Amino acid sequence: MKPELKLAGTEKAKIIARDGHSISRKDIAPNALKVLYRLTSAGYHAYIVGGGIRDLMLQKKPKDFDVATDAAPEEVKDLFRNGRIIGRRFKIVHVRFGKEIIEVTTFRADHARSNEISNHPARRKIKGLDSAHSESGLILRDNVYGNIDEDAMRRDFTVNALYYTTDGFRVLDFCSGIEDLKAKTIRIIGNPVERYKEDPVRMLRAIRFSAKLNFTIEENTKKPIDELSYLLDSISSARLFDETLKLMTGGYAEKTFEMLRKFQLGTYLFAPTLEALSESGGSPANLVSLALKNTDDRLANGKSVTPAFLFASLLWPVLKLHLAKSKNLGLPPQKAFQQAAQSAISEQLHYTAIPKRFTLATREIWELQEKLKVRTKRNVDKVFNNSRFRAAYDFLLLREDSGEDLKGLGQWWTDFQVSDSETKLRLITTANKSQNRHKGKKQLARGRGE
Ligand code: ATP
Ligand code: MG
Repeated sequence: MKPELKLAGTEKAKIIARDGHSISRKDIAPNALKVLYRLTSAGYHAYIVGGGIRDLMLQKKPKDFDVATDAAPEEVKDLFRNGRIIGRRFKIVHVRFGKEIIEVTTFRADHARSNEISNHPARRKIKGLDSAHSESGLILRDNVYGNIDEDAMRRDFTVNALYYTTDGFRVLDFCSGIEDLKAKTIRIIGNPVERYKEDPVRMLRAIRFSAKLNFTIEENTKKPIDELSYLLDSISSARLFDETLKLMTGGYAEKTFEMLRKFQLGTYLFAPTLEALSESGGSPANLVSLALKNTDDRLANGKSVTPAFLFASLLWPVLKLHLAKSKNLGLPPQKAFQQAAQSAISEQLHYTAIPKRFTLATREIWELQEKLKVRTKRNVDKVFNNSRFRAAYDFLLLREDSGEDLKGLGQWWTDFQVSDSETKLRLITTANKSQNRHKGKKQLARGRGE
């Protein structure tokens, strides 16, 4: 008998032998393999599952590798000194190797079966079954353990439910995931409405994978999304922040943003931005799409993107609208700016949480936009040495690219950065002369009552 067939549930899988798939151990993170080997030598069954296998099958580089096993979380933890049980909704074990974390989950089953499976091996050490639904069908806790075939059915999309085992190097496919991979299709497992009600974030994931993999969302998987998008209201703003980051930093932000808009899901993540975009258009709207494009380009070139910069861009049209309103109220500029920045950020916080360190940085990027204009020697030194200078300068260029006329300010700072100290001084002098001329003209105009 094939070894993995000893595991209950595997008889339901289509098994793809070593020579029938393109996955090789070499492509799997050594630490994920370590986890697999440790679990299997302790007598458990363990598989790599999810995005890791999906991406390898597509010849793409996986972001991470997740492990699924029949060992209970407590049992997994006992095997790894570097293992920690986390999560309340889903109990999982994080096995840490320096910066890398391998996520180990115990096979889960359907809630309806929670009464039948109290003898499941993974339940030996667990006190009390633990599953709960809200009235709307939302899963509140999901720690009901089951067999591998049941675990596959609890996953979101068929292409995310492929299991790889080093025991014979086989791939197990319980729900035609391989076929869907070939057809480039995102298909939800089970009844779409039920699955979205259980966890509305699956709608966001459908969009994310479709944009990232360039896959079509299968008709039944797509149909209910528009109508059920409101379910995102019930998801905590902290989880929505995490999902938003994944959506915006997956390398396909521009396309993802458009899709989110089209499916009405955007309203539950970026309502202030979308409202401002529909009201204002022009350069603030250009800035948003350019920022998303830039984000994708940066990631494609191996550069990093920060949430602070992302929110500074997404909320720029909101800030601009607030600024226009407070100008009408006749507030002094500094005060008007403070209020506008505060309002733009707090409006967004109704939708996604944003950790304070990021909102502070977002505000700084905005605040520096005014400071970049003042080119006295003292101010230039101060701004240049500010830890957010780089982000603020990038943002300035983005504003110019989006069509704002900033009188060559971006070019000035570009020149400044590459100049020797003598040229720097010359640049400062020239800038001040032209600024004074500009001021003089304004005063003259005011004096004439223009
Ligand atoms: P990537 O890591 O590239 O973003 P992924 O598919 O690996 O994509 P993860 O969030 O790492 O996504 O989740 C790992 C696996 O866990 C998924 O492939 C899927 O099988 C399962 N999963 C994750 N989130 C859900 C969910 N909300 N509902 C059902 N299954 C899920
Ligand atoms: Mg993953």
